[in-house]
Amino acid sequence: MILKEIEEIKKIRDSAQLVSKTLGLMAQEIKPGVSSLYLDKIAEEFIKDNNALPGFKGYNNFPNTLCVSVNNQVVHGIPCDKPLNDGDVISVDCGVIKEGYYGDHAYTFSVGEVNKEVKDLLDVTKESLYQGIDVMIENNRIGDIGYAIQSYINLHGYGIVRELVGHGLGKNLHEEPEVPNYGKKGTGKILKNGLVLAIEPMINLGTEKINLDEDGWTFVTLDGLASAHFEHNIALIDGKPEILSTFEYIYDALGIKSEEEKRFKNFFD
Ligand code: MG
Ligand code: MG
Repeated sequence: MILKEIEEIKKIRDSAQLVSKTLGLMAQEIKPGVSSLYLDKIAEEFIKDNNALPGFKGYNNFPNTLCVSVNNQVVHGIPCDKPLNDGDVISVDCGVIKEGYYGDHAYTFSVGEVNKEVKDLLDVTKESLYQGIDVMIENNRIGDIGYAIQSYINLHGYGIVRELVGHGLGKNLHEEPEVPNYGKKGTGKILKNGLVLAIEPMINLGTEKINLDEDGWTFVTLDGLASAHFEHNIALIDGKPEILSTFEYIYDALGIKSEEEKRFKNFFD
């Protein structure tokens, strides 16, 4: 587990904020008829215009700037020229590297009008992320984060993806420790000041079981039902979780008012 100095956390925050702005730009562009490949193109341009590089492109030979996962696709979807349809949900995961540090976060968007069952899945998945962040407190343990996410999701009966997990973040896109979205209270590594995590619940409407698509990248739900994915980057500072990324640019674009991040902003804002 690599613990960071404040100067390093600031750099991770700069990268995370650039991802946030990129996702805000996506929020303006996502509508029926638009292709994920178009979104990928403008995201890449925007990141390069901001003196950074896409963090995913070329990582383990991933071909694009964004991971774009539509409907039953869970994560790691490859952008393509197929237009989005009214009623789709699209998870956009984006990474950047700037001054040697990564940012990596994700949001699941509704395309046009989405049915209530799927809308509820998005709301609950996002809230489960904050339930996990709430317990990222000094001397708690990794298992406490997974336990908090799992407990909240279980209230709603959704499937928690087991094979894919959150992670540490810094000079590397994926660092120790792994952060599962399930777990036992009081187990796993102890959380210390300077730890930076990407917490990212991946939650399915139906079964937790997933398959890897034949493209070798895209994970899909086994039952074909929808999946949601929300990810923030968080640092442990002065014993408390400090959120480094933000959904505010998305909310500005969509005209949403939200106070949800307020309780995690003590140090930088
Ligand atoms: Mg990600
Ligand atoms: Mg991640």
